[in-house]
Amino acid sequence: MDITNPLSKSTLIACHECDLLQRQPVITHHANVQCGRCGAVLYRNIPDSVDRTIALSLAGLILFVVANLFPFLSFEVGSQATRTTLFTGVRELYAQGIWALAALVFVTSILAPLLQLVLMLYVFIPIKAGRVAIYTRPAFRLLNKVRDWNMIEVFMIGILVALVKLTKMATIVPGIALWSFMALIFLVTGAAASIDGRIVWRQFEQAK
Ligand SMILES: [Zn+2]
Repeated sequence: MDITNPLSKSTLIACHECDLLQRQPVITHHANVQCGRCGAVLYRNIPDSVDRTIALSLAGLILFVVANLFPFLSFEVGSQATRTTLFTGVRELYAQGIWALAALVFVTSILAPLLQLVLMLYVFIPIKAGRVAIYTRPAFRLLNKVRDWNMIEVFMIGILVALVKLTKMATIVPGIALWSFMALIFLVTGAAASIDGRIVWRQFEQAK
């Protein structure tokens, strides 16, 4: 059963916990809508959901570019300075033969957030224009899967722990990419939290 598609009968919604079929209330403010019988959260009503998702994703994409093009960290030991970018870590791990870890870091901290941002824009920009992009269905399904693969927060904590240890050995100068990357975490999380899946399915119904 596809519980992500509760809008097949546009005003009815089934509780995913107790299966109670109920009418969707009309609300315009930010609220959690709960099941009338068991109290499970049926969905979150987010005003301007589509606008928020698009705006945060666009901002995220810009920061993603900055985070990948500009220096992430500079290490200064004596008179020697080394500059790193986000991708340097992946390349170093790969060069040292730890390719599985290199792939994991690449997927969770570069590929997944990028894919997530691009998919959100791909799905929601046409919806904003009252249309549905041709591959919206698989794209939206993929988006829900990619969200689990996005672990940039974990990656960020790893970097911070390493930094604290390294400060004893070298002078570390955070680059613009580091700040961009930190802000990116909040933007991606915010964009994903603004998604209201019902809007996507409703658009499908109308496009038929
Ligand atoms: Zn229920």
